[in-house]
Amino acid sequence: MSALSIQGVSRIFETGQGQRTQALLPVDFNVHDNDFVTILGPSGCGKSTLLRIVAGLERPSTGRVMLDGQPVDGPGADRGMVFQSYTLFPWLTVAQNIRFGLRERGMAEAAQKERCDYFMAKVGLRGFEHHFPKQLSGGMQQRTAIARALANDPKILLLDEPFGALDNQTRVLMQELLLGIWESARKTVLFVTHDIDEAIFMANRVAVFSARPGRIKSDIAVNLPHPRH
Ligand code: ADP
Ligand code: ADP
Repeated sequence: MSALSIQGVSRIFETGQGQRTQALLPVDFNVHDNDFVTILGPSGCGKSTLLRIVAGLERPSTGRVMLDGQPVDGPGADRGMVFQSYTLFPWLTVAQNIRFGLRERGMAEAAQKERCDYFMAKVGLRGFEHHFPKQLSGGMQQRTAIARALANDPKILLLDEPFGALDNQTRVLMQELLLGIWESARKTVLFVTHDIDEAIFMANRVAVFSARPGRIKSDIAVNLPHPRH
């Protein structure tokens, strides 16, 4: 059974005065456990829309998303999301941001702290517990966003152009960091990008979207040995 099964998922937006935008044509797509899949396509082809539907932040117009055989109906702790623009709470410190979901779930303080320390170390943020997001560089803010997503122990990580706003050098560091996490934590990853090099470098499978309205045009197993294997 596939970890994630996208079945005939499409999306039409009603944009007022009887106008409609077809953001996504029906997509059928299966992702297996521990796969690192990139979704590649030009801007506006519906990549974010698909990811948001998988995250449960938006509903499909047709079709459904199944996660371990259960239909997705809204957001859940089984999916961790990281966006391009840093969506940290600006009034909370790094540690408070990372602990946010754990606290919401009612986890005991000591356990929250332990988990937070573990993931801060994992993303290279040790020592930045009490910093606020605006005191950090873009790369460090994305490290925080990744640590926050991982702290909730999701089964699937959903990343929407997470490194798109970073300079080249920082982007390469962050790509390496994410690949290391993927390898050691064995997460299933769905990673959206419009950058061909990034799509091929990161993934063991690349789904290529056609230009809008999006539909998967080809689905390629990257048969070059993965740089880490
Ligand atoms: P991508 O992530 O590939 O850049 P998006 O999923 O963001 O593409 O958008 C796909 C299409 O749907 C675009 O034409 C975009 O303008 C449109 N779209 C996305 N979100 C909305 C919305 N909330 N309302 C209306 N149109 C939208
Ligand atoms: P990266 O996030 O990929 O490590 P950055 O350019 O974001 O790259 O940061 C490089 C290094 O600079 C960090 O590892 C950190 O040690 C230091 N640094 C960045 N921002 C701050 C800050 N606000 N306060 C102290 N040190 C910082």
